Amino acid sequence: MTTSAIRVRFAPSPTGFLHLGGARTALFNFLFARHHNGTFILRVEDTDQERSTGDSIQAIFDGLKWLSIDWDEGPFFQSERLELYRKVADRLLSEGKAYRCYCTSEELEERRKESLAKGIPPRYDGRCRDRSNFSEKPHVIRFRTPDLPQVVVHDLIRGDMKFNGNLLDDWVIIRSDGYPTYNFAVVIDDLEMQITHVIRGDDHINNTPRQITLFNALEAPLPHFAHIPMIHGPDRAKLSKRHGATSVMAYHEMGYLPHALVNYIARLGWSHKDQEIFSRQELIDYFDLDHVGSSPAVFNPEKLLWLNAQYIRNEDPSTLTNELLPFLKPVQHPFSPSSDGQGPDLPKIVEGWKTRVRTLVELADAVHPFRDQEFSISAEAHEKHLIPENQPLILLFLQRFLTVSEWTKENLEAVIGTIGLEQDMKLGKLAQPLRAALTGQNVSPGIFDVLLLLGREEVLRRLDKALTLIGPNK
Ligand code: GLU
Repeated sequence: MTTSAIRVRFAPSPTGFLHLGGARTALFNFLFARHHNGTFILRVEDTDQERSTGDSIQAIFDGLKWLSIDWDEGPFFQSERLELYRKVADRLLSEGKAYRCYCTSEELEERRKESLAKGIPPRYDGRCRDRSNFSEKPHVIRFRTPDLPQVVVHDLIRGDMKFNGNLLDDWVIIRSDGYPTYNFAVVIDDLEMQITHVIRGDDHINNTPRQITLFNALEAPLPHFAHIPMIHGPDRAKLSKRHGATSVMAYHEMGYLPHALVNYIARLGWSHKDQEIFSRQELIDYFDLDHVGSSPAVFNPEKLLWLNAQYIRNEDPSTLTNELLPFLKPVQHPFSPSSDGQGPDLPKIVEGWKTRVRTLVELADAVHPFRDQEFSISAEAHEKHLIPENQPLILLFLQRFLTVSEWTKENLEAVIGTIGLEQDMKLGKLAQPLRAALTGQNVSPGIFDVLLLLGREEVLRRLDKALTLIGPNK
Protein backbone atom coordinates (compact mmCIF):
# COMPACT_ATOMS: atom_id res chain seq x y z
CA MET A 1 0.00 0.00 0.00
CA THR A 2 1.36 3.39 -0.87
CA THR A 3 0.97 6.08 1.72
CA SER A 4 0.22 9.71 1.06
CA ALA A 5 2.24 12.41 2.68
CA ILE A 6 -0.32 12.92 5.41
CA ARG A 7 1.06 12.24 8.86
CA VAL A 8 -0.93 12.72 12.04
CA ARG A 9 -0.41 11.79 15.65
CA PHE A 10 -2.22 11.10 18.89
CA ALA A 11 -0.10 12.46 21.70
CA PRO A 12 -1.62 11.61 25.09
CA SER A 13 -0.08 12.66 28.37
CA PRO A 14 -0.19 9.52 30.51
CA THR A 15 -1.62 11.05 33.64
CA GLY A 16 -4.82 8.99 33.88
CA PHE A 17 -7.00 6.56 31.98
CA LEU A 18 -8.03 7.04 28.35
CA HIS A 19 -11.17 9.14 28.54
CA LEU A 20 -13.84 9.69 25.93
CA GLY A 21 -12.37 13.00 24.78
CA GLY A 22 -8.92 11.46 24.30
CA ALA A 23 -10.37 8.46 22.50
CA ARG A 24 -12.25 10.78 20.15
CA THR A 25 -9.07 12.74 19.38
CA ALA A 26 -7.28 9.45 18.69
CA LEU A 27 -10.17 8.24 16.53
CA PHE A 28 -10.35 11.43 14.45
CA ASN A 29 -6.61 11.25 13.79
CA PHE A 30 -6.85 7.56 12.98
CA LEU A 31 -9.80 8.02 10.60
CA PHE A 32 -8.16 11.01 8.94
CA ALA A 33 -5.00 9.00 8.34
CA ARG A 34 -6.88 5.95 7.05
CA HIS A 35 -9.15 8.06 4.84
CA HIS A 36 -6.16 9.76 3.20
CA ASN A 37 -4.03 6.66 3.18
CA GLY A 38 -1.62 8.45 5.49
CA THR A 39 0.32 7.55 8.62
CA PHE A 40 -0.95 7.58 12.21
CA ILE A 41 1.63 7.93 14.95
CA LEU A 42 1.30 7.30 18.67
CA ARG A 43 3.43 9.52 20.86
CA VAL A 44 3.37 9.34 24.64
CA GLU A 45 4.01 12.75 26.15
CA ASP A 46 5.51 11.63 29.42
CA THR A 47 7.85 14.46 30.29
CA ASP A 48 5.88 15.43 33.37
CA GLN A 49 7.78 13.11 35.64
CA GLU A 50 5.53 13.63 38.62
CA ARG A 51 2.22 13.01 36.93
CA SER A 52 3.10 10.37 34.30
CA THR A 53 2.64 6.76 35.37
CA GLY A 54 3.24 3.35 33.83
CA ASP A 55 -0.33 2.37 34.71
CA SER A 56 -1.69 5.27 32.67
CA ILE A 57 0.47 4.33 29.70
CA GLN A 58 -0.92 0.81 29.90
CA ALA A 59 -4.48 2.12 30.31
CA ILE A 60 -4.11 4.23 27.16
CA PHE A 61 -2.75 1.30 25.14
CA ASP A 62 -5.54 -0.95 26.46
CA GLY A 63 -8.21 1.58 25.54
CA LEU A 64 -6.86 2.11 22.02
CA LYS A 65 -6.48 -1.63 21.46
CA TRP A 66 -9.99 -2.35 22.69
CA LEU A 67 -11.35 0.20 20.22
CA SER A 68 -9.05 -1.14 17.46
CA ILE A 69 -7.55 2.29 16.93
CA ASP A 70 -4.21 1.01 15.72
CA TRP A 71 -1.21 3.06 14.91
CA ASP A 72 1.45 2.78 12.21
CA GLU A 73 4.46 4.24 14.00
CA GLY A 74 5.43 4.34 17.65
CA PRO A 75 4.71 4.34 20.45
CA PHE A 76 7.36 6.98 20.90
CA PHE A 77 8.07 8.20 24.40
CA GLN A 78 9.16 11.77 24.91
CA SER A 79 11.10 10.75 28.00
CA GLU A 80 13.41 8.79 25.67
CA ARG A 81 14.02 11.76 23.39
CA LEU A 82 15.52 14.24 25.85
CA GLU A 83 18.74 14.49 23.89
CA LEU A 84 16.88 15.71 20.83
CA TYR A 85 15.13 18.48 22.76
CA ARG A 86 18.39 19.47 24.36
CA LYS A 87 20.08 19.67 20.96
CA VAL A 88 17.41 21.97 19.56
CA ALA A 89 17.55 24.11 22.70
CA ASP A 90 21.32 24.44 22.23
CA ARG A 91 20.78 25.47 18.65
CA LEU A 92 18.31 28.15 19.71
CA LEU A 93 20.75 29.30 22.40
CA SER A 94 23.57 29.60 19.89
CA GLU A 95 21.35 31.53 17.49
CA GLY A 96 20.29 33.89 20.28
CA LYS A 97 16.68 32.71 20.01
CA ALA A 98 16.72 31.34 23.52
CA TYR A 99 18.53 32.24 26.71
CA ARG A 100 19.37 30.91 30.13
CA CYS A 101 17.31 32.31 32.97
CA TYR A 102 18.53 32.18 36.54
CA CYS A 103 15.54 33.75 38.24
CA THR A 104 14.51 31.58 41.16
CA SER A 105 10.94 30.47 41.66
CA GLU A 106 10.73 32.67 44.79
CA GLU A 107 11.78 35.72 42.78
CA LEU A 108 9.31 34.90 40.02
CA GLU A 109 6.54 34.42 42.53
CA GLU A 110 7.28 37.77 44.13
CA ARG A 111 7.19 39.56 40.79
CA ARG A 112 3.99 37.76 39.87
CA LYS A 113 2.35 39.04 43.04
CA GLU A 114 3.58 42.57 42.36
CA SER A 115 2.05 42.49 38.86
CA LEU A 116 -1.23 41.17 40.16
CA ALA A 117 -1.30 43.88 42.83
CA LYS A 118 -0.86 46.49 40.10
CA GLY A 119 -3.57 44.84 38.01
CA ILE A 120 -1.12 43.83 35.25
CA PRO A 121 -1.36 40.31 33.79
CA PRO A 122 1.67 38.46 35.16
CA ARG A 123 4.28 37.54 32.60
CA TYR A 124 8.01 36.99 32.65
CA ASP A 125 9.68 40.42 32.56
CA GLY A 126 12.67 39.39 30.47
CA ARG A 127 15.17 40.10 33.23
CA CYS A 128 17.70 37.48 32.04
CA ARG A 129 17.21 38.23 28.34
CA ASP A 130 20.48 40.02 27.80
CA ARG A 131 22.55 38.58 30.54
CA SER A 132 26.09 37.74 29.52
CA ASN A 133 27.56 36.09 32.61
CA PHE A 134 26.62 32.41 32.62
CA SER A 135 27.19 30.04 35.50
CA GLU A 136 26.38 26.46 36.35
CA LYS A 137 23.80 27.61 38.85
CA PRO A 138 20.36 26.01 38.34
CA HIS A 139 18.63 27.66 35.44
CA VAL A 140 15.91 27.19 32.90
CA ILE A 141 16.07 27.96 29.19
CA ARG A 142 13.55 30.45 27.87
CA PHE A 143 12.42 31.09 24.34
CA ARG A 144 13.06 34.66 23.21
CA THR A 145 9.57 35.42 21.95
CA PRO A 146 9.78 37.82 19.03
CA ASP A 147 7.88 41.09 19.25
CA LEU A 148 4.76 40.47 17.23
CA PRO A 149 1.57 42.43 17.54
CA GLN A 150 -0.45 39.45 16.41
CA VAL A 151 -0.20 35.73 15.83
CA VAL A 152 -2.78 34.22 13.52
CA VAL A 153 -3.76 30.57 13.78
CA HIS A 154 -5.29 29.24 10.57
CA ASP A 155 -7.51 26.56 11.93
CA LEU A 156 -9.14 24.04 9.62
CA ILE A 157 -12.21 23.87 11.81
CA ARG A 158 -12.56 27.33 13.28
CA GLY A 159 -11.06 29.43 10.53
CA ASP A 160 -8.54 32.16 11.33
CA MET A 161 -8.02 33.03 14.97
CA LYS A 162 -6.04 36.10 15.95
CA PHE A 163 -4.06 36.23 19.17
CA ASN A 164 -2.45 39.26 20.74
CA GLY A 165 1.29 38.65 20.36
CA ASN A 166 2.11 40.97 23.25
CA LEU A 167 0.57 38.51 25.66
CA LEU A 168 3.17 35.88 24.85
CA ASP A 169 6.09 36.15 27.21
CA ASP A 170 9.47 34.45 27.07
CA TRP A 171 8.27 31.01 28.06
CA VAL A 172 10.36 28.20 29.46
CA ILE A 173 11.41 25.55 26.95
CA ILE A 174 13.75 23.51 29.17
CA ARG A 175 13.13 23.22 32.90
CA SER A 176 15.90 23.27 35.49
CA ASP A 177 15.81 19.45 35.66
CA GLY A 178 16.69 19.29 31.95
CA TYR A 179 13.21 18.19 30.87
CA PRO A 180 11.45 20.03 28.07
CA THR A 181 8.14 21.76 28.66
CA TYR A 182 5.04 20.57 26.85
CA ASN A 183 4.96 23.33 24.23
CA PHE A 184 8.60 22.82 23.36
CA ALA A 185 8.63 19.03 23.07
CA VAL A 186 5.41 19.07 21.01
CA VAL A 187 6.89 21.37 18.39
CA ILE A 188 10.19 19.53 18.16
CA ASP A 189 8.41 16.20 17.80
CA ASP A 190 5.80 17.43 15.35
CA LEU A 191 8.64 18.78 13.28
CA GLU A 192 10.91 15.76 13.57
CA MET A 193 8.02 13.33 12.91
CA GLN A 194 6.97 15.44 9.91
CA ILE A 195 3.44 15.84 11.18
CA THR A 196 1.30 17.47 8.51
CA HIS A 197 -1.91 17.93 10.52
CA VAL A 198 -2.17 18.59 14.23
CA ILE A 199 -5.66 17.43 15.20
CA ARG A 200 -6.31 17.90 18.91
CA GLY A 201 -8.80 19.13 21.48
CA ASP A 202 -9.50 22.84 21.51
CA ASP A 203 -8.32 23.03 25.12
CA HIS A 204 -4.91 23.41 23.43
CA ILE A 205 -5.86 26.42 21.35
CA ASN A 206 -4.06 28.86 23.63
CA ASN A 207 -0.83 26.91 23.21
CA THR A 208 -0.90 27.13 19.45
CA PRO A 209 0.37 30.75 19.07
CA ARG A 210 3.41 29.87 21.20
CA GLN A 211 4.03 26.78 19.13
CA ILE A 212 3.72 28.76 15.90
CA THR A 213 6.31 31.32 16.98
CA LEU A 214 8.67 28.48 17.80
CA PHE A 215 8.12 26.76 14.44
CA ASN A 216 8.90 30.12 12.84
CA ALA A 217 12.05 30.58 14.91
CA LEU A 218 13.21 27.16 13.74
CA GLU A 219 12.46 28.25 10.18
CA ALA A 220 10.25 25.20 9.85
CA PRO A 221 7.03 24.89 7.88
CA LEU A 222 3.86 24.96 9.94
CA PRO A 223 1.63 21.93 10.12
CA HIS A 224 -2.09 22.45 9.56
CA PHE A 225 -4.00 22.87 12.79
CA ALA A 226 -7.45 21.50 13.53
CA HIS A 227 -8.82 22.03 17.01
CA ILE A 228 -11.81 19.86 17.71
CA PRO A 229 -14.50 21.18 20.04
CA MET A 230 -14.88 19.95 23.57
CA ILE A 231 -17.37 17.34 24.63
CA HIS A 232 -20.09 18.63 26.93
CA GLY A 233 -22.62 16.82 29.07
CA PRO A 234 -26.36 17.12 28.42
CA ASP A 235 -26.38 20.18 30.75
CA ARG A 236 -23.82 21.89 28.46
CA ALA A 237 -21.08 21.80 31.07
CA LYS A 238 -17.70 20.28 30.17
CA LEU A 239 -17.97 16.48 30.29
CA SER A 240 -17.01 15.18 33.70
CA LYS A 241 -17.60 12.27 36.05
CA ARG A 242 -20.97 13.58 37.14
CA HIS A 243 -22.29 12.98 33.61
CA GLY A 244 -21.48 9.27 33.94
CA ALA A 245 -18.39 7.22 33.23
CA THR A 246 -15.76 9.06 31.20
CA SER A 247 -13.15 6.31 30.99
CA VAL A 248 -13.23 4.21 27.83
CA MET A 249 -12.54 1.00 29.71
CA ALA A 250 -15.47 1.67 32.06
CA TYR A 251 -17.67 1.23 28.98
CA HIS A 252 -15.94 -2.06 28.31
CA GLU A 253 -16.80 -3.18 31.83
CA MET A 254 -20.39 -2.00 31.49
CA GLY A 255 -20.84 -4.30 28.52
CA TYR A 256 -20.58 -1.97 25.54
CA LEU A 257 -19.33 -3.31 22.24
CA PRO A 258 -16.16 -1.53 21.11
CA HIS A 259 -17.50 -0.59 17.72
CA ALA A 260 -20.69 0.84 19.24
CA LEU A 261 -18.51 3.20 21.27
CA VAL A 262 -16.35 4.02 18.24
CA ASN A 263 -19.49 4.77 16.21
CA TYR A 264 -20.82 6.94 19.02
CA ILE A 265 -17.69 9.00 19.61
CA ALA A 266 -17.17 9.44 15.87
CA ARG A 267 -20.47 11.31 15.84
CA LEU A 268 -19.40 13.61 18.67
CA GLY A 269 -18.55 16.64 16.59
CA TRP A 270 -18.55 14.99 13.17
CA SER A 271 -21.46 14.09 10.95
CA HIS A 272 -22.21 12.58 7.58
CA LYS A 273 -25.68 13.65 6.47
CA ASP A 274 -28.05 12.33 9.10
CA GLN A 275 -26.61 8.83 9.22
CA GLU A 276 -26.27 7.42 12.75
CA ILE A 277 -24.87 3.94 12.26
CA PHE A 278 -21.57 3.48 10.47
CA SER A 279 -19.45 0.44 9.86
CA ARG A 280 -15.74 0.90 10.42
CA GLN A 281 -15.16 1.08 6.68
CA GLU A 282 -17.87 3.70 6.26
CA LEU A 283 -16.24 5.84 8.94
CA ILE A 284 -12.95 5.61 7.07
CA ASP A 285 -14.60 6.32 3.73
CA TYR A 286 -16.61 9.31 4.90
CA PHE A 287 -14.45 10.92 7.57
CA ASP A 288 -12.81 14.23 6.80
CA LEU A 289 -12.28 17.44 8.71
CA ASP A 290 -14.73 19.50 6.67
CA HIS A 291 -17.65 17.99 8.51
CA VAL A 292 -16.26 18.47 11.98
CA GLY A 293 -18.32 21.20 13.62
CA SER A 294 -16.97 24.04 15.69
CA SER A 295 -19.52 23.99 18.49
CA PRO A 296 -19.20 21.65 21.45
CA ALA A 297 -20.50 18.13 21.01
CA VAL A 298 -23.05 16.91 23.54
CA PHE A 299 -22.55 13.51 25.10
CA ASN A 300 -25.82 11.69 25.53
CA PRO A 301 -25.49 8.43 27.47
CA GLU A 302 -29.02 7.36 26.49
CA LYS A 303 -28.13 7.56 22.83
CA LEU A 304 -24.94 5.59 23.37
CA LEU A 305 -26.99 2.90 25.13
CA TRP A 306 -29.48 2.87 22.27
CA LEU A 307 -26.65 2.52 19.76
CA ASN A 308 -25.13 -0.32 21.75
CA ALA A 309 -28.48 -2.10 21.73
CA GLN A 310 -28.59 -1.73 17.93
CA TYR A 311 -25.15 -3.30 17.61
CA ILE A 312 -26.04 -6.16 19.96
CA ARG A 313 -29.25 -6.79 18.05
CA ASN A 314 -27.48 -6.84 14.68
CA GLU A 315 -24.46 -8.90 15.73
CA ASP A 316 -24.36 -12.49 14.67
CA PRO A 317 -24.97 -14.85 17.62
CA SER A 318 -21.62 -16.63 17.59
CA THR A 319 -19.58 -13.40 17.52
CA LEU A 320 -21.79 -11.98 20.23
CA THR A 321 -21.32 -15.12 22.28
CA ASN A 322 -17.55 -14.64 22.12
CA GLU A 323 -17.92 -11.06 23.32
CA LEU A 324 -20.20 -12.27 26.07
CA LEU A 325 -17.92 -14.98 27.51
CA PRO A 326 -15.95 -12.71 29.89
CA PHE A 327 -19.22 -11.36 31.31
CA LEU A 328 -20.81 -14.71 32.15
CA LYS A 329 -21.35 -15.47 35.80
CA PRO A 330 -19.92 -18.76 37.07
CA VAL A 331 -22.38 -21.64 36.84
CA GLN A 332 -23.05 -23.35 40.18
CA HIS A 333 -25.48 -26.06 39.10
CA PRO A 334 -25.30 -26.82 35.40
CA PHE A 335 -28.00 -28.83 33.72
CA SER A 336 -28.36 -30.67 30.42
CA PRO A 337 -31.34 -29.45 28.50
CA SER A 338 -31.48 -32.15 25.88
CA SER A 339 -31.73 -35.88 26.06
CA ASP A 340 -28.36 -36.31 24.40
CA GLY A 341 -26.79 -34.65 27.40
CA GLN A 342 -25.21 -31.67 25.65
CA GLY A 343 -25.00 -28.45 27.60
CA PRO A 344 -27.18 -25.43 26.85
CA ASP A 345 -26.51 -24.02 23.42
CA LEU A 346 -25.14 -20.58 24.26
CA PRO A 347 -25.34 -19.02 20.77
CA LYS A 348 -28.99 -20.12 20.57
CA ILE A 349 -29.76 -18.57 23.95
CA VAL A 350 -27.95 -15.42 22.86
CA GLU A 351 -29.96 -15.35 19.66
CA GLY A 352 -33.18 -15.44 21.65
CA TRP A 353 -32.04 -12.61 23.86
CA LYS A 354 -30.09 -10.23 21.67
CA THR A 355 -33.04 -8.09 20.66
CA ARG A 356 -34.11 -7.66 24.27
CA VAL A 357 -30.97 -6.34 25.98
CA ARG A 358 -28.85 -3.23 25.68
CA THR A 359 -25.49 -4.30 27.10
CA LEU A 360 -23.42 -7.46 27.49
CA VAL A 361 -23.94 -7.18 31.24
CA GLU A 362 -27.70 -7.33 30.73
CA LEU A 363 -27.19 -10.21 28.31
CA ALA A 364 -25.09 -12.11 30.85
CA ASP A 365 -27.82 -11.66 33.46
CA ALA A 366 -30.45 -12.72 30.98
CA VAL A 367 -28.74 -15.92 29.84
CA HIS A 368 -27.82 -17.05 33.34
CA PRO A 369 -31.09 -18.91 34.09
CA PHE A 370 -30.53 -20.88 30.89
CA ARG A 371 -27.21 -22.18 32.13
CA ASP A 372 -27.69 -22.62 35.83
CA GLN A 373 -30.39 -24.33 37.87
CA GLU A 374 -29.78 -21.68 40.50
CA PHE A 375 -31.13 -18.33 39.41
CA SER A 376 -32.92 -15.60 41.22
CA ILE A 377 -36.58 -14.83 40.78
CA SER A 378 -37.16 -11.11 40.52
CA ALA A 379 -39.52 -9.48 42.98
CA GLU A 380 -41.72 -8.27 40.10
CA ALA A 381 -42.02 -11.74 38.58
CA HIS A 382 -42.79 -13.23 41.97
CA GLU A 383 -45.35 -10.65 43.02
CA LYS A 384 -47.12 -10.51 39.71
CA HIS A 385 -47.17 -14.08 38.51
CA LEU A 386 -46.00 -16.58 41.09
CA ILE A 387 -49.06 -16.09 43.21
CA PRO A 388 -51.66 -18.51 44.61
CA GLU A 389 -54.20 -17.63 41.88
CA ASN A 390 -51.82 -19.04 39.30
CA GLN A 391 -51.09 -22.24 41.18
CA PRO A 392 -53.71 -24.37 39.32
CA LEU A 393 -52.46 -23.14 35.94
CA ILE A 394 -48.84 -23.92 36.70
CA LEU A 395 -49.87 -27.34 37.98
CA LEU A 396 -51.79 -27.94 34.77
CA PHE A 397 -48.73 -27.02 32.68
CA LEU A 398 -46.66 -29.43 34.70
CA GLN A 399 -49.10 -32.30 34.25
CA ARG A 400 -49.48 -31.76 30.50
CA PHE A 401 -45.77 -31.29 29.87
CA LEU A 402 -45.17 -34.64 31.58
CA THR A 403 -47.25 -36.34 28.92
CA VAL A 404 -45.90 -34.61 25.79
CA SER A 405 -44.55 -37.40 23.61
CA GLU A 406 -41.64 -35.59 22.02
CA TRP A 407 -40.34 -32.20 23.23
CA THR A 408 -40.79 -30.33 19.96
CA LYS A 409 -42.13 -26.90 19.12
CA GLU A 410 -45.18 -28.37 17.37
CA ASN A 411 -46.14 -30.59 20.30
CA LEU A 412 -45.64 -27.77 22.78
CA GLU A 413 -47.73 -25.43 20.67
CA ALA A 414 -50.49 -28.02 20.60
CA VAL A 415 -50.40 -28.53 24.38
CA ILE A 416 -50.42 -24.84 25.18
CA GLY A 417 -53.06 -24.18 22.52
CA THR A 418 -55.35 -26.76 24.15
CA ILE A 419 -54.81 -25.25 27.59
CA GLY A 420 -55.63 -21.84 26.12
CA LEU A 421 -58.93 -23.12 24.73
CA GLU A 422 -59.83 -24.90 27.97
CA GLN A 423 -59.02 -21.88 30.10
CA ASP A 424 -60.25 -19.34 27.57
CA MET A 425 -56.94 -17.49 27.76
CA LYS A 426 -54.74 -16.02 25.06
CA LEU A 427 -51.13 -17.18 24.66
CA GLY A 428 -49.68 -13.88 25.92
CA LYS A 429 -51.48 -14.21 29.20
CA LEU A 430 -50.83 -17.92 29.57
CA ALA A 431 -47.14 -17.44 28.99
CA GLN A 432 -46.62 -14.95 31.78
CA PRO A 433 -46.69 -17.26 34.82
CA LEU A 434 -44.81 -19.84 32.81
CA ARG A 435 -42.10 -17.35 31.92
CA ALA A 436 -41.82 -16.18 35.52
CA ALA A 437 -41.48 -19.75 36.78
CA LEU A 438 -38.94 -20.74 34.13
CA THR A 439 -36.71 -17.67 33.99
CA GLY A 440 -37.48 -15.67 37.12
CA GLN A 441 -38.20 -12.65 34.89
CA ASN A 442 -41.16 -10.95 33.27
CA VAL A 443 -39.29 -10.57 29.99
CA SER A 444 -37.70 -13.38 28.01
CA PRO A 445 -37.38 -14.72 24.50
CA GLY A 446 -40.53 -16.30 23.06
CA ILE A 447 -41.99 -18.89 25.43
CA PHE A 448 -41.49 -21.80 23.01
CA ASP A 449 -37.82 -20.92 22.68
CA VAL A 450 -37.57 -20.89 26.46
CA LEU A 451 -39.18 -24.31 26.74
CA LEU A 452 -36.93 -25.77 24.05
CA LEU A 453 -33.74 -24.20 25.38
CA LEU A 454 -34.35 -25.53 28.88
CA GLY A 455 -35.52 -29.02 27.89
CA ARG A 456 -38.30 -31.01 29.46
CA GLU A 457 -36.53 -32.18 32.58
CA GLU A 458 -35.49 -28.70 33.62
CA VAL A 459 -38.89 -27.22 32.77
CA LEU A 460 -40.62 -29.74 35.01
CA ARG A 461 -38.14 -29.13 37.78
CA ARG A 462 -38.70 -25.36 37.62
CA LEU A 463 -42.47 -25.64 37.54
CA ASP A 464 -42.31 -27.89 40.55
CA LYS A 465 -40.08 -25.41 42.31
CA ALA A 466 -42.45 -22.56 41.49
CA LEU A 467 -45.33 -24.53 43.01
CA THR A 468 -43.33 -24.98 46.18
CA LEU A 469 -42.56 -21.28 46.21
CA ILE A 470 -46.23 -20.34 45.83
CA GLY A 471 -47.31 -22.86 48.48
CA PRO A 472 -50.54 -24.82 48.64
CA ASN A 473 -53.56 -23.26 46.98
CA LYS A 474 -55.96 -22.38 49.77
N1 GLU B 1 -0.18 15.80 25.40
C1 GLU B 1 -1.30 16.63 25.16
C2 GLU B 1 -2.51 16.12 25.90
O1 GLU B 1 -2.57 14.98 26.28
C3 GLU B 1 -1.69 16.71 23.70
C4 GLU B 1 -0.76 17.51 22.92
C5 GLU B 1 -1.12 17.74 21.48
O2 GLU B 1 -1.94 17.01 20.93
O3 GLU B 1 -0.53 18.65 20.93
O4 GLU B 1 -3.41 16.88 26.13
